[in-house]
Amino acid sequence: MGTRPLLNRRLAGMGSTIFAEMSALAVATGSINLGQGFPDTDGPRAIAEAAARAVLEGRGNQYPPGPGIPELRAAVTEHQQRWYGLTYDPDSEVLITAGATEAIAAALLALLEPGDEVIALEPFYDSYAACIAMAGATRVPLTLRAPGFRPDLDELRALITPRTRLLLINTPHNPTGTVLTPDELRGIAELACEHDLLVITDEVYEHLVFAGAHRPLAALPGMRERTVSISSAGKTFSFTGWKVGWVTGTPELVAAVRTAKQYLTFVSAGPFQYAVADALRLPDSYFDTLRADHLRKRDLLADGLAAAGFEVFRPEGTYFITTDITPLGETDGLEFCRKLPERCGVVAIPNVVFYDNTEAGRSHVRWAFCKRDDVLQEAVTRLQQL
Ligand code: PMP
Ligand code: GLN
Repeated sequence: MGTRPLLNRRLAGMGSTIFAEMSALAVATGSINLGQGFPDTDGPRAIAEAAARAVLEGRGNQYPPGPGIPELRAAVTEHQQRWYGLTYDPDSEVLITAGATEAIAAALLALLEPGDEVIALEPFYDSYAACIAMAGATRVPLTLRAPGFRPDLDELRALITPRTRLLLINTPHNPTGTVLTPDELRGIAELACEHDLLVITDEVYEHLVFAGAHRPLAALPGMRERTVSISSAGKTFSFTGWKVGWVTGTPELVAAVRTAKQYLTFVSAGPFQYAVADALRLPDSYFDTLRADHLRKRDLLADGLAAAGFEVFRPEGTYFITTDITPLGETDGLEFCRKLPERCGVVAIPNVVFYDNTEAGRSHVRWAFCKRDDVLQEAVTRLQQL
């Protein structure tokens, strides 16, 4: 094979994701897995039954339509209207994807030229870096710094260059739990309009907000025409394995994303699309209970982590808590997470892997609280040994 590396330069160093590494470590050591963010309790039984019915009744077992089944596209538009007052045309302004992950990949691959710069909130979800690299573009971090993890809009302004093509904005933000305020959203929107930038929003935690409210950037003046909004069913309905996501935007933006998407998976998850259409139409009480349950879990784990000696940054949204290990006499989050299973049988994620400016996240560790209360309680008990 010669001396040339097999993995191309764009993906060099990206190895396997931290989630795979840490989940494998949890299995190998029999630890409680508060690393990778997936619930240990499935979503509503009625929605699972809808998926099973679709399979048995032969709906979606063959390739669904490229843009997604009409029932789900309609349900996505109803959801955007119901929660945010945003109106989209289900035929030309919605695209169903294989989770938010594919939506993000397709949007970046479709909209970027090699050499373009993408500004993203750092720490960034790991697939952003990989997809920006696969598109041949350059990522430019806007670092959210502890303890507040707020974006500095003057810094954002200073990061914009003639090569900046796109802002990639994740709110509620994984891993910090930051939920952007109306002022922050307005500031970002104004800069996007002033510099004529495209915006991709990752809103997968839209229904997990504990302080304030989720507001899509697309709802702000001048933003609808430049924003590709992305979300998915995984977090909101606790079926992360189904991988049903969606894109909303203008017909031109959606057509561009669809062009890339059709050569990635073409289509996916036929029967699950029917079930997610039902899920999006669940009554408000479902969404209220989801939020209340996770608020209780957040506080259970946050209080336990504080009692164990961590500095806790209580999140405004998502199902993750970021902590600082410095008060425990530790400085290196990666080393801390690799040893944690043998020290006390718990797995967490080192935030440093989500940074280019690694100094800003070296001592930060992320914990997922989308787990049963008794599991969280047991994890908290184990962590007191530290
Ligand atoms: N964006 C963020 C911020 C995430 O945390 C995740 C992971 N769940 C995704 C995107 C991917 O979502 P999906 O599972 O729908 O592909
Ligand atoms: N989004 C999940 C997290 O942040 C994990 C998804 C994945 O494993 N790629 O933990």
